[in-house]
Order: sequence, then C-alpha cells, then structure tokens
Amino acid sequence: MTFASYNLHPALLQALQNKAYTQPTPIQQSAIPQALAGKDVLASAQTGSGKTAAFAIPILQQLATQTLRSPRRTLALVLVPTRELAMQVGEVFKQLAAHLPQTVQITTLFGGVSINPQMMRLRGGADVVVATPGRLLDLIDRNALHISHIDTLVLDEADRLLDMGFAAEIERILSLIPAKRQNLFFSATFPSAVQRLARALLHEPVRIDVQPSIQQLTDIGQRAVLVDEPKRTQLLRHLIEQNKWTRILVFVATKHAADKVAAKLRKARINAEPFHGEQSQGKRVQVLADFKAARLTVVVATDVAARGLDIAQLPVVVNFDLPRSAALYTHRIGRTGRAGEQGLAVSFVSHNTQAHWQLIQKRQDIDVPLDIALGFEPQDAPLEVNFSNGGIKGKRPSKKDKLRAAAQSTETPAPVSL
Ligand code: AMP
Repeated sequence: MTFASYNLHPALLQALQNKAYTQPTPIQQSAIPQALAGKDVLASAQTGSGKTAAFAIPILQQLATQTLRSPRRTLALVLVPTRELAMQVGEVFKQLAAHLPQTVQITTLFGGVSINPQMMRLRGGADVVVATPGRLLDLIDRNALHISHIDTLVLDEADRLLDMGFAAEIERILSLIPAKRQNLFFSATFPSAVQRLARALLHEPVRIDVQPSIQQLTDIGQRAVLVDEPKRTQLLRHLIEQNKWTRILVFVATKHAADKVAAKLRKARINAEPFHGEQSQGKRVQVLADFKAARLTVVVATDVAARGLDIAQLPVVVNFDLPRSAALYTHRIGRTGRAGEQGLAVSFVSHNTQAHWQLIQKRQDIDVPLDIALGFEPQDAPLEVNFSNGGIKGKRPSKKDKLRAAAQSTETPAPVSL
C-alpha cells in the first residue's frame, strides 16, 4: 500500500515524500480512504501511530481539490486538548500543505498567550483551525472567527479533552457548527464519557481500531529498577553517565519534584530543565525547542508532557515516579520508540510503590522483572519482593540473589548498564 494509491494531489505526495513517509501507517491505511470518501470515522489510536496525518491528509486533499473557496470560510476545525499538541498538529498541517498550489491558511489557537496576535492572524481568514476549546470560544465570542460553515470537525485525543474538563466547551462548540458535517474522532481510550460523546457526535461512523497493545510496542524495551526512594536521583545520574544517554525524558509526579530533580541534575553538571504546567508558555516552548535541538540532555516533566508530544529520536524515558494509572504508563512510555525507532523505558520502583507497579503490570498484562543496580541495592527491600528473575518470596534477598538478578537482567532485550 502506498500513498499514491489514494489518488492524492501531487503536491501532497511531494510533501509526504519530503517528510520521508514512504508508506501509510496502519491507522492511515484504515482512516484515509474512509475519510476521503466523506465518512465519519471513530478511531482508537495512540499518539505515535501516525494519527495526525491520518486526518490531515484527507482534509488537505479536500482543500487541494476545491477550486472555488471563500477565503474567509473555515473548512476544518481540529480540537485538541493542549497547547503543545495544537502546535504539533498545526506544524504537521503546514508541512503537508507546503507545496499546494493555492495557499492554505492554517491557524493554531491556544490559551496561555496573548489573544491579540491570534485575532490579527485570523483577520485574513483561516482554512484550517487547530485549537484548544477555551481559546477557540474566546475568539468566537470576540467575533474573530466563525465556525458556522465548517465541513469537517476533528476531535483529537477526545479522552484527554474530556479528562481536562472541556465537556461544556465542546458542547457549546457543537452548537455553533453545522449539523451536517464530517466528523473524525480520535481517542486512545474509550471510557463511558468518551463513548457518549462519540455517540452524540458521529453519524454512522466507520470504526477503526489499530491501537497497539503495549505488548505490540516492540520497539520499546521496558525495564524496572528497584531502588530506595532517596537514591533515585543518584541512580538516574549513574544511568545517564554509564549508558552515555544524551536525551532523556524523566517523568515525576509533581511540579515541585520536576523543579527539584532538574536542579539536582544541574548541580551534577547534567544539562536539565523542568517542564510543567506552572511554567509560562514561553518557558515551555523554549524547553521543548532546546530539547529537540539537543541543547538539553534531560527534561524532567509532569504528566503534562505524557500525551501528544512528539519528540523525534527520544531514546529514553524514565519513570522517576511511577504514573498514577496504567493508561498513563502507556502514554508516558509511548514518547519513546516513535515511528519505528528503538526506545527504552526505565521505571524506578521503590519499597513503597512496588504494589502499585504490580498493579500497572497486571492492568497492562506485562511482566517486567525488577532489576537491581549494583551499588544501589535497596536497604529497605520488602519481604514480598518479587526479586528479579526468580527471587525468593517471603525472604529478604541475599547479596547473592541481588548479584544473580543484576547479571540476569543484562539478558533482557534492551540492554542498559545498571
Ligand atoms: P502521530 O501519531 O501523528 O503523533 O505521529 C507519530 C510519528 O510518526 C511522527 O513523528 C510522525 O512524523 C511519524 N509518522 C506519521 N506517519 C508516518 C508515515 N507514514 N511514515 C513514517 N513516519 C510517520
């Protein structure tokens, strides 16, 4: 299967070639023909699956083939949960639209920054609007934008949109757009609120489910290390130095922890910055840009960064604090191993979080044995330790157990020097 087989506009094929997309990903193979045929689509898709192009290509194809277009009429509205995702999705649209014969105006709108430049940009009209719901409604209320004639509505990461409390905004947006339209609905998970929204929104949708199970994320090696909580920063430093990691995304539970861990790493001369919701938008954009440009080695982030972010060539993700839920675990580790690259996800597990780690594994149906890093043997190992590769239940592991486990752990598929 190739992109050419969809009869796409040559300018789109050129842009796909420039992006080195040689073959459609599974979600693209399923969604593009259906969306091109004008059908509503209900897709279960993770970030990393290529879902952005799965909706951007049909929208741009439609724009490319429309000969008469009113310049002030917005044709497609893409709703996304976060500013970062808005920027990322907007960028994909711009890159794919780069060679189209008529200029396609793509506008990205999100909160946390001054509204005036966005109002100015909207003066010339926008063919495609990629927006977070709150800022979109602000701009509509200020008469800067009309969405009463859109042809296509995309909900990207619908579960996250609802998680973030945008239900009321979405409802209002739905009341402002035409009843007759095409709907493309993407969500990683389908809790009942998402199902309700999908039912209310979609008209005889084609269901697409190419969500990889975590077991299918074969490009991501998963490791877990048992370590005492106070030793985690030291262990992180050790792993970075030992393995010569150059770009690591570290997840922590709180903004405070993000600041603290990044500061400790900087003290150890490791180029690290925190990334969380309490920073200004400018600061977050700067941190991401520095990270992408390899001016930063480590970004220590809260779960604000767990979804949607696409950092090419991110070889390592570390769960310094375990995620709250099994679903978040998938989202976090999905930041690495993108688009067929090799990735490694390392989770730090302590005496206190071991039961939670078991639960995550159970929910995700994975079995990642606990390793011990030499020199970081836990002092407070619990009695019920499921010691790496066949430890003794109900007994504290002996030093020999620990050494055996450390030796065996090197046999797992993604080698990391512990
Ligand atoms: P997404 O799920 O849309 O965030 O995309 C995940 C990553 O896959 C991004 O880095 C895309 O640039 C990349 N990607 C999307 N479609 C393709 C494709 N057909 N071939 C290769 N890479 C792709």
